[in-house]
Amino acid sequence: MSGVKICEDLGIKNTVNVLDPTLLLTSNEWREVSSNKFKNEKYILVYNLNRNKKMDNYAKNLSKKTGLKVKYLSYQLHEFYRKGKMYCNPKVEDFLALIDNAEFVISDSFHATAFSLIFNKQFVIVYPDKFSTRLQSILKLLNLDNRVAKNENDLKIVNKNIDYEFVNEKLNIERQKSMEWLLNNLKKMEEDNLFPSKEKCSGCGACMNICPKHAISLVEDEYGFLYPRIDKEKCINCGLCKKVCAYQNDKLEGSPIKVYAAIRNKEDDILNKSASGGIFSSIAINFINSGGIVYGSSMEKENGKLTVKHTRVDNIDDLKKLQGSKYVKSLMGTIYDNIKKDLKNQKNVLFSGTPCQVAALKKYLPQFA
Ligand SMILES: Cc1cc2nc3c(=O)[nH]c(=O)nc-3n(C[C@H](O)[C@H](O)[C@H](O)COP(=O)(O)OP(=O)(O)OC[C@H]3O[C@@H](n4cnc5c(N)ncnc54)[C@H](O)[C@@H]3O)c2cc1C
Ligand code: SF4
Ligand code: SF4
Repeated sequence: MSGVKICEDLGIKNTVNVLDPTLLLTSNEWREVSSNKFKNEKYILVYNLNRNKKMDNYAKNLSKKTGLKVKYLSYQLHEFYRKGKMYCNPKVEDFLALIDNAEFVISDSFHATAFSLIFNKQFVIVYPDKFSTRLQSILKLLNLDNRVAKNENDLKIVNKNIDYEFVNEKLNIERQKSMEWLLNNLKKMEEDNLFPSKEKCSGCGACMNICPKHAISLVEDEYGFLYPRIDKEKCINCGLCKKVCAYQNDKLEGSPIKVYAAIRNKEDDILNKSASGGIFSSIAINFINSGGIVYGSSMEKENGKLTVKHTRVDNIDDLKKLQGSKYVKSLMGTIYDNIKKDLKNQKNVLFSGTPCQVAALKKYLPQFA
């Protein structure tokens, strides 16, 4: 529940507490993954995430009382020095089997507790100085706060059997609730999203340009790439955004339709400022001289920051801004819409950009493509 509070404090509304993913599967489903090891053994399993002398002593006391040997589970190599059988970083299959076949599990780990619950094990929690509140939260949910040892001699806990009829029923209810919420919201996200995964979106922004309600904005992801996001409050479900997406609707051509080759611009000044032969500038100059408009990528300083974005150019002087390759994504902004206006005003337009930008423009303006 503490996660819900953290989200709410950050202003994230409608946060819901769902079960940890491990608890969404049943014991039978986990046993399909589990290995066949440790089946005929009787042992106490100790899994401590944090170094905890109290837990070691508890295990020793329980071992003495029950006559059971102790197996240790750790993800820290340096714990090999411990007495007893140590399993360091076991395979997932063996990790599951170690818990499933134990007589008692002693731990401070949320996941050891989760799997103990799944496999209906008798377990004892020995809190270290620092522990996850997740652990407290699941114990509280299942009325199992009494599984926390008060001290290393608190062995009477293990005599009290856990009422697994109640726990299983409660877990099933929570499992159903969590699955329902997750599936509904995943489905909703799929419906709300313009693309099923990032690989299916080039971030061309055609959808943002076409939206009659300005409901789409391009939002930066953790790597700085822009992806569209819909503001559902503004959206009228007209479907234009999905229709305009060249990336997802059109079969991408694997081979060029026509190929032209140009070797070298005769003007040294143009050649030196271009990335290769300078053909772009020659065509663009011709285009502007005959009254056309050129759209291409320019790099400009905006608010002290260099920005690469597509720009409209209607004079020879400004053409130099478009020369040369800028090796970062060029922002399209409202370029598709600006081009549409120019074309409607009977202007000829020369557009230069990457293949995904050209495909987006063609899809945006099929009547001119
Ligand atoms: C990001 C990028 C990477 C490239 N990588 C290679 C490569 O590895 N090998 C190779 O042989 N060729 C590459 N090219 C192609 C090659 O640079 C061009 O075909 C060549 O530069 C065109 O030559 P030019 O001299 O006529 O025009 P230039 O004056 O060099 O090119 C200007 C044109 O490029 C466009 N442009 C520049 N940067 C961008 C950008 N970031 N996004 C969209 N359009 C842009 C401008 O709009 C302008 O129209 C790349 C081009 C780009 C844009
Ligand atoms: S139109 Fe462009 S930005 Fe929008 S979803 Fe398709 S590829 Fe992504
Ligand atoms: S469905 Fe229509 S209104 Fe909604 S985001 Fe897409 S284009 Fe905009």
